[in-house]
Amino acid sequence: MVNFEKNMRLIVEHTYGTWRAQKGWKEPLCISKAKGVYLYDQRGRPYLDFSSQLMCSNLGHGNEVIVDAICKQAREISYISPGFVCEATARAVEALLDIMPEGLNRFFFSTSGTEANEAAIKIVRQYMAPKYKIISRYHSYHGATATSISLTGDPRRWYAERARCTVPGVVFAPDTYCYRCPFGLTYPECNIQCVEYVDYMIKEEGNVAAVFVEPVVGTNGKLVPPKEYFPRLRKICDENGVLLIVDEVMSGWYRTGKWWAIDNWDVKPDILTTAKGCTSAYTPVGITVTTKKIKDYFEEEVMCHGHTYSMHPLAISAIPPVIEEYKRLVATGLPQRVSKYLEKKLHELMNRHECIGDVRGMGHFWAIEIVKNRKTKEPFNTKADKFQKPLITDKISSEALKRGLYIVSWYDHFTVAPPLIITEEEVDEGIQILDEVLKIADREVEVV
Ligand code: PLP
Repeated sequence: MVNFEKNMRLIVEHTYGTWRAQKGWKEPLCISKAKGVYLYDQRGRPYLDFSSQLMCSNLGHGNEVIVDAICKQAREISYISPGFVCEATARAVEALLDIMPEGLNRFFFSTSGTEANEAAIKIVRQYMAPKYKIISRYHSYHGATATSISLTGDPRRWYAERARCTVPGVVFAPDTYCYRCPFGLTYPECNIQCVEYVDYMIKEEGNVAAVFVEPVVGTNGKLVPPKEYFPRLRKICDENGVLLIVDEVMSGWYRTGKWWAIDNWDVKPDILTTAKGCTSAYTPVGITVTTKKIKDYFEEEVMCHGHTYSMHPLAISAIPPVIEEYKRLVATGLPQRVSKYLEKKLHELMNRHECIGDVRGMGHFWAIEIVKNRKTKEPFNTKADKFQKPLITDKISSEALKRGLYIVSWYDHFTVAPPLIITEEEVDEGIQILDEVLKIADREVEVV
């Protein structure tokens, strides 16, 4: 007999809960099984996964093809030092070469998104020396380790700064946040000031090595840039001798309806970083991909980076079957069809709920931003409230969980990013629960 209470006590007393004051690590939901788009608690109660966990379980849970490949690798060879290679290394590289943007074909493997970004920055700062500054954006998250959190615009950086765990040399550019344009302008009359200002920044700052951006901003808003943004940014980078790095940790792997979010604008980056969906979270892998030209620079120069678990065979053994599974799934047409359905359902949801200020996104990657007042766009909570105040978004997502829906909330919006295998019926189930719980915010809306 499983002793639930003893298990919970062991876990919450002896482990750190992430990104929270520890008093909030009291009764996490204990999952006993996960299959398809559902998680099951210890009592067998199902929860629809409307955010693919942390926007990473893109192919859903319990996929036997992936699990079998990992088990096979575990039996053959689980680990060797990164100074050796094995068949799993070749298979992963071969599978990746098939789907990478043109020109990106030199890989560094780690075990998380933050490590993928740390590696990218180290490579760039060596390659571009003496230029070292990185332009990032306020609405961004790039990871928890020192360099990645320094590039991060969201409030988690503020805590890392207090802990003196950040690095210098990062400047922040304006966001592609059309709903709340930082210049107070409206598209298309704005002439895309958010990208023109990057040109100004590069020239005024000096020593800029790279621009580092999420092509569609994930955690911090599902911000889809205007169509002119990336072609213009590529041009600005080229004219100023600056590299363009895209963080596709969350936005890659068909989240936006293409292998890479940047493919939506036909722009080629100099470096791409990814993680999460590269194994659909079955194993922990981070990938930093560069051009041959960048790798060639390190023929003589020491590439001063590595981990015990770089190119971990068990971890990267998930990459080839995952890529095959994406291809198989896309060939069925299901994700293409359901993404359109999801978009329609989310806009209908907005029509029914006064608290929804904006619905934005693409593919299987959507934000529902809630506001107190649709006209003035007054928010319920702001960035400064995160970790400081009870948030109405948290209250709503907890209520959703009680009703069998898992949905990630941020201080101002909810993340609708279900696994790509979700069906229309399952979308309906999630929307129905959202319909119920959004009434909590509707009741707080100011009457206009
Ligand atoms: N970059 C982006 C865009 C992310 O969304 C995340 C995590 O959510 C990271 C980097 C960090 O990835 P990890 O948590 O695997 O370190």
